[in-house]
Amino acid sequence: MPLLHPDAPPRRPVPAVTLPRGSTEPAAHSRHRAALPPRHLADLDLAGRRAAVAELGEREYRAAQLSQHYFGRLTRNPELMTDIPAAARARLAAHLLPGLLDPVRELACDGGKTRKTLWRLHDGSLVESVLMGYPDRVTVCVSSQAGCGMACPFCATGQAGLSRNLSTGEIVDQVVSFAGLAARGAMTGARARLSHVVFMGMGEPLANYSRVIDAVRRLTAAAPDGLGLSQRRITVSTVGLVPAMKRLADEDLAVTLALSLHAPDDDLRDELVPVNRRWKVAEVLQAAWDYAGRTGRRVSIEYAMIKDVNDHPWRADLLGRQLAGRSAHVNLIPLNPTPGSRWEASARPVEREFVRRLRAAGVPTTVRDTRGREIAGACGQLAAAEVEPMSAGTERVRSRGRERKAEQ
Ligand code: SAH
Repeated sequence: MPLLHPDAPPRRPVPAVTLPRGSTEPAAHSRHRAALPPRHLADLDLAGRRAAVAELGEREYRAAQLSQHYFGRLTRNPELMTDIPAAARARLAAHLLPGLLDPVRELACDGGKTRKTLWRLHDGSLVESVLMGYPDRVTVCVSSQAGCGMACPFCATGQAGLSRNLSTGEIVDQVVSFAGLAARGAMTGARARLSHVVFMGMGEPLANYSRVIDAVRRLTAAAPDGLGLSQRRITVSTVGLVPAMKRLADEDLAVTLALSLHAPDDDLRDELVPVNRRWKVAEVLQAAWDYAGRTGRRVSIEYAMIKDVNDHPWRADLLGRQLAGRSAHVNLIPLNPTPGSRWEASARPVEREFVRRLRAAGVPTTVRDTRGREIAGACGQLAAAEVEPMSAGTERVRSRGRERKAEQ
């Protein structure tokens, strides 16, 4: 009996992730190096920025001033940098604050509290990021790669393959752009401060390891070096690249780790998350527990609920046994159906029973809200759709998204 629906896509080859010891960069990167964007101050730490400013013949303290405008005031407009002489401003901004992200399409729902932007990068690659405002926090979901090489069959991004890694600057600039929007009151009219970042947009963050780690360092460094966010408010989500998870545990970073499990058994996970054929469920969970042990951070187990594929009561029980007593909680994600696939989200009663069984096993479990569904909020859906550049203003899609927690 096939594990997946008869209309499931054909079995995919194991993703080509080359992870030699000490290096978690995919081999694909070297082929795409030429496509990386111009250097941006967010690519550099403060010492590197000082050196870059000196190379331009400017005083080194201009690096801190420039950084303060970018990370502190969330602006890159040279005209607003009145503490820097006018002649130097334009030159410094041109060399250290090049425009990396060109908005192609902007969508909003939930009365403006959810906003999604499709960006075109300098080489024409498309990536998405999402801003979500909640009563107690403001979260940005960022992309770490243009496309993705992990080939998960239920994920829109996974269908197109990997174009290239994003640079540190391209990752950080997604966050800074949205932080600026929120600070200027673009969400609800009230000024809001960005508090959380999740690496749950396009791409596999741990396959672009060093740039993602540098981005995390920029996001968490105090101003003017960085954005000053708390490490624990940054979530890095992974399909489970075990060597990279181990390396992450060795960094002096206490970011939250999310593991996209989606199945408790290897037979099914081999299909839903093809990289499982390389690192099995037991091994990936062990790496997660090691991470939790090292950092003291509870791991988030992500589980997309796919009707009749992975939502069986016995799978809830198996998952419960695997996670009971561990430093973990489960985040169930109702499947966001991707165009062209007939896979559906699990029915509500099935979802409720899954939650009940996990909780009965002592595993804290929540169901993720379905924010942004009306604006193709699932990973990669906007980039996958045929995209026409906006002519004027932003397109707004009105809808009524609702946050919900299981059994509330
Ligand atoms: N590559 C990383 C991060 C990107 S995706 C990872 O896989 O963890 C962020 C989360 O959204 C992952 O858990 C992913 O499996 C999930 N996801 C992708 N497509 C989805 C869909 N159509 N419906 C529900 N969740 C989806």
